[in-house]
Amino acid sequence: MTSYISAAYLASVILFILSIRGLAHPATARHGNILGFIGISLAVLATFFMPEVHDYFWTFFMILTGGCLGLFFAFRVKMTSLPQMIAAFNGLGGLASVFIAGAEILSGTPTKFESSLGLIIGAIAFSGSVIAFAKLQGLISPKAFVFRGQQILNLLLALGIISSCSLFLLSGDIKYFYILSLLSLIIGFLVTLPIGGADMPVIISVLNAYSGWAAVSIGFSLNNILLIIVGTIVGGSGTFLSHAMTKAMNRSLLNVILGGFGLKDQKQATANEQTAQTATPQDAAFLMENANKVIIVPGYGMAVAQAQHILKEMAEDLQKLYGVEVKFAIHPVAGRMPGHMNVLLAEANIPYEDVYELEQINREFSTADVAYVIGANDITNPLARTDSSSPIFGMPILEVEKAKTVFFVKRSLGSGYAGVENPLFFAPNTLMLYGDAKDVTEQIVENLEHK
Ligand code: NDP
Repeated sequence: MTSYISAAYLASVILFILSIRGLAHPATARHGNILGFIGISLAVLATFFMPEVHDYFWTFFMILTGGCLGLFFAFRVKMTSLPQMIAAFNGLGGLASVFIAGAEILSGTPTKFESSLGLIIGAIAFSGSVIAFAKLQGLISPKAFVFRGQQILNLLLALGIISSCSLFLLSGDIKYFYILSLLSLIIGFLVTLPIGGADMPVIISVLNAYSGWAAVSIGFSLNNILLIIVGTIVGGSGTFLSHAMTKAMNRSLLNVILGGFGLKDQKQATANEQTAQTATPQDAAFLMENANKVIIVPGYGMAVAQAQHILKEMAEDLQKLYGVEVKFAIHPVAGRMPGHMNVLLAEANIPYEDVYELEQINREFSTADVAYVIGANDITNPLARTDSSSPIFGMPILEVEKAKTVFFVKRSLGSGYAGVENPLFFAPNTLMLYGDAKDVTEQIVENLEHK
């Protein structure tokens, strides 16, 4: 039987690797998702046949309860709340590692070191994700929370974790294990609190990597090869993603973790409302139908308004009725999760060949007649290049201001996620199109089609 289980595990691992490969491109993502689903189903099924599994009723009951809860939340979650959901999943992954490590240690496992490591990383992933969830859900302020001596406290806690872990491994005294659990949970809270604003996506990715590495430690503790390999895939991809995201934002991981981003109170732009130039959807339709090239820049507000389908209609009208060249520009941290805009544009069947990454599209804005910035803000803010005191300083931006005319579709002059004023709203070539992203684009489409 064990050889069948090993063969099933091997097949699952291959399916997971193929799944990740599929998920790397929008055209194959759906296929990749299905392969991942088959892989995990096979792994769970094979585990039922392991000699260690006796209590089928409780195992089945727990899987059913967890599965139903997962389905319930997955069906209800809004596209814009996915980052919170990912934070919750990371946290639950970490918590599962904590419980398994605890159960192993209380049952007198010989693999105390691996279990302790799984416990430390899992507890940090759990408590860190609780804070990340609370920030993204607006339950606590999304801003960075920093107090005096915070880093010294973290250092003391880290020393406390090393000491209690060593004492536990040397003496086997369970009270050190409880101290270790408590300190690991506290440090998870404290390292996530100082992270805020535009650094949130990075910390979600870091916590995702932690939950993977915790699973690896637990895999060693349980001597479960599948957990080791899958944990490595999750931990490794989370680590690479964190690295890629910090690179995209021109920051280092250490800088993110110690940074206190979004700490300063930024001046809000709303007071200057009267000084920004405004336009109507009719003006926008007129300018765009007479343009040679239009670049569309979607952001978080497009996701909130669910404007992707009408945006596709607008792009098609411009291309087919007026022969305008239309391109979509995607910033790596646009929206509220990695790949947020790619997913939405793919959902609306916008052709992949019309969608461009930041580096590719930035050189094209100077040849564009119109940049149509829909529900985006921070990702276009030139302060990221010019103001070294700005919390988004160093983040590469989409250089929309180089286009002849820039339309900003948003409801007010309010700031974006990072809470930073955007001087581009007052630029001479900017026209504000106030309103909900979907409503405004619908009115533009009406104007394009009924002439
Ligand atoms: P921003 O958060 O900078 O701006 C979004 C803008 O959309 C707001 O200024 C808001 O203005 C407008 N908006 C909101 N609702 C609507 C609506 N219904 N119709 C029209 N406009 C609307 O978004 P960006 O995409 O430009 O930048 C993403 C930011 O989020 C970055 O700071 C990034 O670091 C951060 N972030 C990214 C994550 C990721 O993984 N991608 C995760 C977490 C944070 P108004 O209120 O005036 O309408």
